[in-house]
Amino acid sequence: MPSLHVDLGHRSYPIHIGAGLLSDGSLWQALRGRSLRLITDEHVAALHLDAVRSALALDDDAVRVLPPGEAQKSWEVAGSVQDWLLQTRLARDGCLIALGGGVIGDLAGFSAAIYQRGVDFVQVPTTLLSQVDSSVGGKTGVNHPLGKNMIGAFHQPIMVVADTGTLRTLPRRELLAGLAEVIKYGMLGDASFLDWITHHLDDLLTLDPVATAEAIRRSCEMKAVIVARDERESLADGKGGRALLNLGHTFAHAIETHAGYGDWLHGEAVATGLCMAADLSARLGWIDADDARRCVDLIARSGLPTKPPGDMTPQDFLHNMALDKKVAAGRLRLVLLRAIGDAVVTADFDPSRLAETLEHFCG
Ligand code: NAD
Ligand code: MG
Repeated sequence: MPSLHVDLGHRSYPIHIGAGLLSDGSLWQALRGRSLRLITDEHVAALHLDAVRSALALDDDAVRVLPPGEAQKSWEVAGSVQDWLLQTRLARDGCLIALGGGVIGDLAGFSAAIYQRGVDFVQVPTTLLSQVDSSVGGKTGVNHPLGKNMIGAFHQPIMVVADTGTLRTLPRRELLAGLAEVIKYGMLGDASFLDWITHHLDDLLTLDPVATAEAIRRSCEMKAVIVARDERESLADGKGGRALLNLGHTFAHAIETHAGYGDWLHGEAVATGLCMAADLSARLGWIDADDARRCVDLIARSGLPTKPPGDMTPQDFLHNMALDKKVAAGRLRLVLLRAIGDAVVTADFDPSRLAETLEHFCG
């Protein structure tokens, strides 16, 4: 079983990755004797709750099952979780367990961050996206009608348990959406990992346990290094901070805004955004056109979209990207590639090349 460490001084924690971990008693040893609460959603509860419940001997009062979906990441639901924690008298030395995808992880993490000024929590991610991205790094929060993830806290988990077996029940589209973020890590930080993904794509698409665990391990490793360097996303451009993790995301957010959240999964929009970032990097002469093509081919072979919605124009992109939080002092900052495996956050690029990329993808 590969285990990793996120290195954050006294807030360091392990990430355990492997098949069948949910029912692995030795893993849960660390929580024995503690007062525990678990939050999950209906989809995950039907499939995977029993394994965790029996491994931890949780009774019904200790489990809260929410409806699935992004709407649960709200201030109101976070409030109702606080009510439940108080009513069931979770003590300050108790621990909250998040069993589910990024929605449950973000909501439960935020609930743990604010309950009695902060209690421990454990991430048990069950989507590929949450196993490679949202469960690691300590960003927690809920949405506000005026913006996604606008209310939140940095609160690191004390442990992450990524059971690759849970991915077998994940809808195909959700699996591919997570794969887009895996490809992102290769493109932004490790050319050899991108080659590895290219060679093992079929294994990843069929959820071969060894290849899947390896993809998650390498993704988490990369995120862990970047988070250790820049826990609160405060590093300036060019210093290798968390902003690098947004490769493809400015284009993706423009697509999500245009399509309306929900029609395109985040990872699907990221997949297209990665193609656009690679294309622009090639037009700027920073990477070879062949390298950009390799990225687009890999994304296409995965079954992920490589083109934005058909009705989207360059103007739509420019308008929506100007709303993106990565605009600093009126200049659009993008994460671009100096080479495959070497991303940079920069506002220093020729805007006419961006116009060409937008024309090309909206054509
Ligand atoms: P999700 O939590 O909504 O899960 C997707 C769907 O899959 C849901 O219907 C869920 O019930 C279902 N599901 C989960 N696990 C399953 C399984 N094993 N088998 C069958 N069905 C299963 O979505 P997500 O993509 O995991 O997470 C998206 C959220 O993550 C967004 O709210 C996003 O803002 C957040 N996010 C947070 C961070 C961070 O750093 N905190 C990073 C990226 C994304
Ligand atoms: Mg993302």
